[in-house]
Amino acid sequence: MESLAHQLPKKYDWKCVNVKIRPEELAILNQRLKLYGYETLGQLVRDFLTSKFPPITEDRQIQTMDNNIQANGLKTAINGPFEPSFYKYTDLEDMFSYLLTIRKYDKHNSRCLVNYFRKYRDVFFGPTPTELLKFTPHKRSWILQGMRHFGNYYYYKVNNPECRELIEKIISRYGLNIGLDMHQKIYIVDDNFVVSKIKDLMAIQGEIGLTVKVGLFSGLREEEIIYIHKTEVCNNLGGCSCSKLHVVNKSNGLTVVIINWFRAHKKSYFTIIPTKVWEQFRNVTNFNNTDIQIAHKLTKKITDIMFVGLRKIHYNVMSRAMGMNEADILAGRAKSVSARHYAIYELDRITESYVQAWSKFGVAIS
Ligand SMILES: [Zn+2]
Repeated sequence: MESLAHQLPKKYDWKCVNVKIRPEELAILNQRLKLYGYETLGQLVRDFLTSKFPPITEDRQIQTMDNNIQANGLKTAINGPFEPSFYKYTDLEDMFSYLLTIRKYDKHNSRCLVNYFRKYRDVFFGPTPTELLKFTPHKRSWILQGMRHFGNYYYYKVNNPECRELIEKIISRYGLNIGLDMHQKIYIVDDNFVVSKIKDLMAIQGEIGLTVKVGLFSGLREEEIIYIHKTEVCNNLGGCSCSKLHVVNKSNGLTVVIINWFRAHKKSYFTIIPTKVWEQFRNVTNFNNTDIQIAHKLTKKITDIMFVGLRKIHYNVMSRAMGMNEADILAGRAKSVSARHYAIYELDRITESYVQAWSKFGVAIS
């Protein structure tokens, strides 16, 4: 008998939940059920159980996720189908045009950011964002930028900054930016912040000001700055492969310095710098690490940015008008093959992008 009972379909396995109401409330209940599109209380309860009703507002979803992260790091601490959807119905084309026209990223970058957001949002906002840790730091940094830009866009769109805060919390709670280097970590999110820092840095006068400008405009590492000051310039232009610097002056007020200096994983192919700054810098008689330390103290004091931070800002600026490949080449993080290609064939275009990039941040190169 017992085994037979087990085989029976469990169609009677229900629990009855009673609700007591007064007779005169019955009409009100029916009316209100109708108002929300229900014919029976049972239907309402069914939808309530499956989270279809009442709809959880986006604000509420974000707050819930935020609270959960704070409490115990579990984003889905609610038992049952709490599924955040606030990020799912984003108008991706609208986000793209926001990046393009409001944030003034170039087309390629805007498209990349939207694509990274679209492709990885379910993982990022899902129960196991740590899955993102399996990607290379470089890819991960793009994914995080995509998410952060979604946060900015969300704020812009619905005037709710909580989404942006939630994104930062997810990143730090799950250590998603662990192992990213300075460039990948960057992320000075606010354009106005960058603009005002650049303005303050550009205002520094004299020899210290010159050191700062070399750092800011070249984006080179400190040792590379010292190297391009002391290394002899070769006068032989066409296809020379000696170890001196090779310098190309462009008509738009820029100088391209081909460096080709490699140590371990640090590579420096070439840099772009305004001709005026380059000439002044080469005319300085003595330049060494002490000059950089002095400049560092001043930038730290005036703008709260370390000298190495100039490289960060440079990368930020460059990535506004260049594809990530080009910005990486300038930062010395690309494959030598593509760097050589750019150095030979794309100089005009890359210097044009360089001018545009700075102009987006209020700096005119001439
Ligand atoms: Zn040479």
